[in-house]
Amino acid sequence: KLEQGKWNFNNSYTKLPKIFYTKQSPTTVRAPKLIIFNSSLASSLGVSPQLEVFAGNEIPKGAEPLAQAYAGHQFGHFTMLGDGRAILLGEQITDSGERFDIQLKGSGRTPYSRGGDGRAALGPMLREYIISEAMHALGIPTTRSLAVVTTGESVMREENLPGAVLTRVSASHIRVGTFEYASRFGTSEDVRSLADYTITRHFPSIATFENKYLQLLREVIKRQASLISKWQLVGFVHGVMNTDNMAISGETIDYGPCAFMDVYDPTTVFSSIDSHGRYSYENQPKMAVWNLARFAETLLPLLHDDKNKAVSLAQEELAKFENLYQDHWLSGMRAKLGLFNNDVEDISLIKDILQLMQQHKADYTKTFQSLTFDKNDGQTLFSSPDYHHWHERWQAHLGQQSNSWDESKELMKSHNPAIIPRNHRVEEALDVANEGDLSKMHQLLNALDNPYGYTPEQEEFSTLPAPEFCHYQTFC
Ligand code: AMP
Ligand code: MG
Ligand code: MG
Repeated sequence: KLEQGKWNFNNSYTKLPKIFYTKQSPTTVRAPKLIIFNSSLASSLGVSPQLEVFAGNEIPKGAEPLAQAYAGHQFGHFTMLGDGRAILLGEQITDSGERFDIQLKGSGRTPYSRGGDGRAALGPMLREYIISEAMHALGIPTTRSLAVVTTGESVMREENLPGAVLTRVSASHIRVGTFEYASRFGTSEDVRSLADYTITRHFPSIATFENKYLQLLREVIKRQASLISKWQLVGFVHGVMNTDNMAISGETIDYGPCAFMDVYDPTTVFSSIDSHGRYSYENQPKMAVWNLARFAETLLPLLHDDKNKAVSLAQEELAKFENLYQDHWLSGMRAKLGLFNNDVEDISLIKDILQLMQQHKADYTKTFQSLTFDKNDGQTLFSSPDYHHWHERWQAHLGQQSNSWDESKELMKSHNPAIIPRNHRVEEALDVANEGDLSKMHQLLNALDNPYGYTPEQEEFSTLPAPEFCHYQTFC
């Protein structure tokens, strides 16, 4: 029998106007089994493993389970959504006073389920666990994964699959889509309540600003510009950047058809449903701005009494995204190449190596690793005359700075991960996990835990995919 955890819930979301949620308990499951548990995350939250809670069979003391209402633009089209298969148990307050949403995903139907069964299959929940924890270790803001339990029940997809519940932890689950919901279906007071709540929860320092709602827009834009630059720098493709999958906190959320790019190709898309490449790698910054424009629209009545003034204020802020994003991206790319100086020529140096990578179908992550050790890893890129020419230019840039090569190498090691969750290795771990063998998954998680460590265990997981994996597709 597992010992009791120490929950310390304070459920501020229940104080929002009633339209924002429906009280809803998780549906119990027949035979829960704890498959994986994140003990380091648990200890930072101050909780211990509790199978029946993670299964939704037991409501911990102080929890007030609810399903959140939200809307969103999916592939450009507005629709009502809401937690169709997730329940917010409550907000855990840690010893240090931080507040985290504790959410069960796959915990049964809710009033927002529409046609869905409210359930989740084991594979996708373990996949979210692996990728979200890998993102966290890479230093990218993200929701976290606390536990996965199997339910002892099967879920009907294309075939019968083992059912599972993921316990997800986040700064909050307030989405762009939550604001769209308030704006479209609530009153202007509902939007204001949500905006005030968001400011209190995520941006307390702006509460006293004269136009705090304009400042809220500004802060959310800043966080997204930073977040998306981090995705681009590691080659992460979210796959379904609908407005309901964009968190106001600036965390990566809703890991569905996401994947890391192997071969560098800006047009990379993994999701089987994204047939037009709306959410391709290269489109992610543009799509972020598109989503932020939907967010800004919901705030217009709060920005200024004069509608035209409000629109121009919002547009002015949205226009700043590009530079904010570029600055983050450029400084990240400089670090990936060991450049300490800010030379105007760096941009063409960066663009040219990316273009050569694309031309020679070079692996994005591996190429930066090889540059870090200044070695030829056998990819055709490294034996091309164009690369040799580029390498001379790069060396000249490095030579102009006062920092030593060792310092550059350290900078590069801390910005070029030794390991990413490569699709073929994730699939391999999931295949055996589905058969009940978690050993591969633990090895993989262990290797992903310290991506800038360059440890020997990571080499095994850094092998490139076989050709048949080059057309890897994800299904949500
Ligand atoms: P997603 O594509 O995961 O971002 O989810 C979009 C919407 O579909 C959200 O409202 C989800 O809650 C809902 N949804 C996804 N899967 C299910 C399911 N199996 N049962 C009920 N609702 C679901
Ligand atoms: Mg979603
Ligand atoms: Mg989802």
